[in-house]
Amino acid sequence: MKDYAIIATAYNSEIRIYASKTTNLVNEARVIHDTWPTATAAFGRFLTVSAMMGLMYKDEEKLTLQIKGNGPIGTMLVDTCGNGEVRGDIINPHVYIRSEVKGKLDVGAAVGNGFLHVTKDLNMRSMFTSSSELKTGEIAEDFANYFVVSEQTPTAVSLGVLVENDQTVRSAGGFIVQVMPGASDETISQLERTIYDIGPVSRWFDEQKSLESLVSAIANKTEKVLDIKDLHYKCHCSKDGFARSLSALDNATMNELIEDNGIEVVCHFCKKKYHFDKNDLLKIRENQK
Ligand SMILES: [Zn+2]
Repeated sequence: MKDYAIIATAYNSEIRIYASKTTNLVNEARVIHDTWPTATAAFGRFLTVSAMMGLMYKDEEKLTLQIKGNGPIGTMLVDTCGNGEVRGDIINPHVYIRSEVKGKLDVGAAVGNGFLHVTKDLNMRSMFTSSSELKTGEIAEDFANYFVVSEQTPTAVSLGVLVENDQTVRSAGGFIVQVMPGASDETISQLERTIYDIGPVSRWFDEQKSLESLVSAIANKTEKVLDIKDLHYKCHCSKDGFARSLSALDNATMNELIEDNGIEVVCHFCKKKYHFDKNDLLKIRENQK
């Protein structure tokens, strides 16, 4: 089954819901980056919430999100936009930490303390970056805090990635629920009860319950679906793109590469390799002039 997101309003438009199933794209990211289970869970949660957040913007608007923690994973970076495409990079994918107390993967310990940075490129020739401190490193709480601190929007975030014993992703997904201005106290307290009753979103998916029923449960059956969007792990890198990056190199470095008879460039996001031989580099140097 493909990955997708449902966008809905509920409780007389007092609440906005983004809910998504991302099992395939998280598994694809695991394969590309060779993540170990705790890194798979952390990176998967981050990709999932970023993909949903991207849907809050127009198709061509871009978001770059960064989680900079002091845990063993190091920095994670995700690019997304309004059309449901997401790609990411993780500094150290080989992290496997279990919490014996909680009996599960310890994402908080793997991410550590630090900051979440969100950069918006809204096609206005300028970028806006806003940041908030990581609360727990568990990703969901960190984003809920970000929405309150940086966007003044009361938000509940729940994310879940279940990793099989063979390290593949059994299920991944989550939701973002935002309280619109003017929502009544009654709606807010009902929403809090409903979300509490739903419990961890990973359990919801593990019981083979659908995304539609999750939206309906959050909305207490008041949902009005606004849109359904496919989600993909997608990288738009190209040899031309890397050629443009190489053309920014200074003369000495470029000459060195030419003497070395070429260079292989690896895309951080999809691990695709591009080879630039001597002729390619001579052409780039020619165009620099
Ligand atoms: Zn790429």
